[in-house]
Amino acid sequence: MTQTITVIRGDGIGPEIMDATLHVLDSMNLGLQYEFADAGLVALEKQGELLPAATMDSIRKNRIALKSPLTTPVGEGFSSINVELRKRFDLYANVRPAKSFPNTKSRFPSGVDLITVRENTEGAYIGEGQTLSADGEVATLTQKITRRGSERIVRYAFELARRTGRKKVTIVHKANILKSTSGLFLKTARAVATEYPDIECNEMIVDNTCMQLVMRPEQFDIIVTTNLFGDIISDLCAGLVGGLGLAPGANIGTDAAIFEAVHGTAPDIAGQGKANPCALLLAAAQMLDHLAMPEKATRLREAIIATLEAKDSLTPDLGGSGNTMSFAKAIATRI
Ligand code: ATP
Ligand code: MG
Repeated sequence: MTQTITVIRGDGIGPEIMDATLHVLDSMNLGLQYEFADAGLVALEKQGELLPAATMDSIRKNRIALKSPLTTPVGEGFSSINVELRKRFDLYANVRPAKSFPNTKSRFPSGVDLITVRENTEGAYIGEGQTLSADGEVATLTQKITRRGSERIVRYAFELARRTGRKKVTIVHKANILKSTSGLFLKTARAVATEYPDIECNEMIVDNTCMQLVMRPEQFDIIVTTNLFGDIISDLCAGLVGGLGLAPGANIGTDAAIFEAVHGTAPDIAGQGKANPCALLLAAAQMLDHLAMPEKATRLREAIIATLEAKDSLTPDLGGSGNTMSFAKAIATRI
């Protein structure tokens, strides 16, 4: 059976890392077909809009997209195309693995292997109810948490644990202070946890979580939390294992899922062949897991690790003298 995926090559370093990623995927005989669609600056220039209807239709039809970073120009209708995509497809789960890799400039070259599951659709992060008084002295923001939103994200985290053989879910909250919103999240999470007696569950306040992550990251397996805490924690975790060049993310909903690198378009190095393709490759590995091809996903991750171990054709951010495509070719030969 062939599976068609929507491929968005994106802006800045996007096309370079996508070409490199597709080179590696092509070497794996996955039976994937690519339907290319535009978004971002490229789409604005070619089709006059940032998120053309044809692109939306393609994602709706294929239900899976692999996406490079996009530029959202100021004053073109959205504050962020990425946030807009999450909203339109109700991509409620943002799933960000952070794993130690060899030969990276990381404080934890081993021992970290965790996944942050961040609620993606509600809470303070979405910026509802923002006001600023006329005199500029008082600003407000509404923070809305729902039982339904909390339940589905926590359930996603526990199901992910079961599916991937992970042992523990940590519920991260601030219910001691934010008794209404974080309190509802925690109460709902506790109820869901009782349905998963096979998975260990603990609770941690978000500030302590940050300290624990920096001091003893190996204690974490899956973290589940609300939108804004998840935003901050997942970047913290990317930092633990060597930064943006190695951080993938998935945005998952009921009807669609979009897999992407966490980093941006990196305009400072665009067009120079210097970009590290690993974040997008690791996002592709998440996509293969999602498409029920876990052994292919594992092979891809192992090939990346073997290439890092051999220091073969690594990009400059990893201290190597390779380029985006030579790095990808080195990975493809190890598959
Ligand atoms: P955007 O506005 O699209 O987010 P940005 O200027 O914030 O772009 P980022 O892409 O977030 O840039 O990257 C921040 C820094 O990390 C830049 O110096 C960039 O060159 C570097 N960087 C990001 N991604 C990569 C990558 N894949 N390989 C190497 N360096 C990267
Ligand atoms: Mg950025």
